[in-house]
Amino acid sequence: MKDCCPICNSTEKKEIGFPKTNLISKKFVDKEFKIVQCNNCQLYYVSPKIELNGSQWGELYNSEYFSNQSSWLVKKRKKELTDRFDKASRLIENASQKLKYLDVGVGEGKGLLEAHRRGWGSTGIDIVDNRLQEAKLSDIKFVQSDLLESELPENYFDFIYADSVIEHVLNPFEYLSKIKKLLSKGGVIYIGVPNEDCLFNSIRKFIFSLTGKKNESEKIKPFDSPYHVIGFNDFSLKYFFEKVGLKVLIQRNFGRKFDFLSYPPTSKSFWINLFFLFPVEYPGQLIKRDVYFEAFLSKKN
Ligand SMILES: [Zn+2]
Repeated sequence: MKDCCPICNSTEKKEIGFPKTNLISKKFVDKEFKIVQCNNCQLYYVSPKIELNGSQWGELYNSEYFSNQSSWLVKKRKKELTDRFDKASRLIENASQKLKYLDVGVGEGKGLLEAHRRGWGSTGIDIVDNRLQEAKLSDIKFVQSDLLESELPENYFDFIYADSVIEHVLNPFEYLSKIKKLLSKGGVIYIGVPNEDCLFNSIRKFIFSLTGKKNESEKIKPFDSPYHVIGFNDFSLKYFFEKVGLKVLIQRNFGRKFDFLSYPPTSKSFWINLFFLFPVEYPGQLIKRDVYFEAFLSKKN
């Protein structure tokens, strides 16, 4: 199989390191995978392409992928979600009508609940059903399928939400093109992805190389693999949207500051985040190398 960049198809690439595996993925990942970066569009991806069957993906995502969050973090995430929906409402043309919402990569279903609360027609799609009980309302439609194999109506949805989804898919170009097809005229797409060139990752990478672990896990972040199979920076993300033919209405780089408060002070994560991630994020934000990107997109006319 031709091993090329899943966005621009270039075969020119440089090696970055080895991906991290976990106990579950070790069972499936028997080839030697490398993390590479495309010389043309700067996308990070895993080479050779990871090929898992449906039940293997299912096993991965059913297995405690969603970690427990403190009530403080739950509130913070809820506020972020509400703000995004407000922003989208202002960007959608004809937002006064009853909007049709599609949640791609539903997860626990918090986006579905927010759309439902606003009285929007709500549909969700995911390869596994990890919805919280309260997101399983009878007037919320749920499709358990791969988006690319699904038969959702085209030119239909006014707001399509895909947060922390694209970095999980092996064929991002086809995936976002499909999302675009489902979008109504005047509708808006929300995409959220990690920034692999954030200052935090650079410093982490530097520390790994100092400690002689240059080729080891976490050299760059996508490779929470096989969960994350591709990774973006500012350049590759803009290239990606342009290639799919979407117009960027808003693109923003933002941080996860104060997330250390979501861990109990007795845990290692609390202290690592407080003394490491927290101080690094301020300069990261100043030089626009914060940890996450979000974008609101529309079809080009
Ligand atoms: Zn490329």
